Amino acid sequence: MEKKVILTGDRPTGKLHIGHYIGSLKNRVMLQNSGKYRPFIMIADTQALTDNARNPEKIRNSLIQVALDYLAVGIDPEISTIFVQSQIPALFELTAYYMDLVTVSRLERNPTVKTEIGQKGFNDSIPVGFLNYPVSQAADITAFKASLVPAGDDQEPMIEQAREIVRTFNRVYNCDVLVEPKGYFPEDGSGRLPGLDGNAKMSKSLNNAIYLSDDAETVQKKVMSMYTDPDHIHVEDPGKIEGNTVFTYLDIFDPDKDKVAQLKEDYQKGGLGDVKIKRYLNKVLEAELAPIRERRAKFAEDEAAVYEMLIEGSKKANEVANETLQQVRSAIGLNYFD
Ligand code: ATP
Ligand code: MG
Repeated sequence: MEKKVILTGDRPTGKLHIGHYIGSLKNRVMLQNSGKYRPFIMIADTQALTDNARNPEKIRNSLIQVALDYLAVGIDPEISTIFVQSQIPALFELTAYYMDLVTVSRLERNPTVKTEIGQKGFNDSIPVGFLNYPVSQAADITAFKASLVPAGDDQEPMIEQAREIVRTFNRVYNCDVLVEPKGYFPEDGSGRLPGLDGNAKMSKSLNNAIYLSDDAETVQKKVMSMYTDPDHIHVEDPGKIEGNTVFTYLDIFDPDKDKVAQLKEDYQKGGLGDVKIKRYLNKVLEAELAPIRERRAKFAEDEAAVYEMLIEGSKKANEVANETLQQVRSAIGLNYFD
């Protein structure tokens, strides 16, 4: 049986954090290791440029960091093709064809894009490329004929947009060249890990993240600074669980659900201090992060090998994307010279 294709990726706007890990990386590794899929994993540098065009160093420097994060969590380049978006010219051309099938107002309605426009303070100066990034994401997904996209919850509107483009393309050009993708989202609320500050989303851009590469001391400091219940002033006071980031993290990261239930009960009754629950959370996180950190340090010893892996991956990705591009050109009727 032919293996189903997976396409997912991350923007090289910084190192990856535990939100990425829980929202997407962990699922990718699990799907990869199931042996049932052919995963393509993209470092989305051109997408990162859509809101960082004047800061290209950030992207250039983050490329290797993201690649190291991938290897550290267990993405295996022998199974998963890791590649760099800007090195795949077919993606630009596909984007151009899809842009003609999508209206500006449809892009303006995308809820994730709307939120990000607010966050980034674009107001009335939204870069065309930024508004268009859902279309370019559709090109990324369809170039590989991916049917599955493991991602965090904020990606749902992007995948919906990609599905629309696939349906429109296949209908307008009367073909079945493009494949409709499905999202693969984490269940239990981990598709959107809140930030240390209690903000709805841990994000590289919001400075509220624990990075996979943070050392143990930094993680501890960050955990100790986390947002809890602002009204829980004295240890003996009853505390609130709702919106308390420490408990949100425990729900997501602690495999010992009974223990978490007990802690919640004690916290709500009063008598359990923030320092105690934070120390416990730190221990839970360390259990998951320590091995990742160690593997990352090993891979970081040979950066040249990591770049070599990206070159190889990009070569493979080009072959697949070019084949789709030829089919797309033919479907539109641009194959004049065949
Ligand atoms: P940026 O601020 O540059 O957009 P980001 O932190 O949002 O960075 P992306 O590279 O845009 O990260 O996202 C990569 C993947 O990680 C996507 O699948 C996204 O859904 C997922 N992801 C990002 N942040 C979180 C989060 N806080 N919780 C769960 N998943 C997340
Ligand atoms: Mg993002």
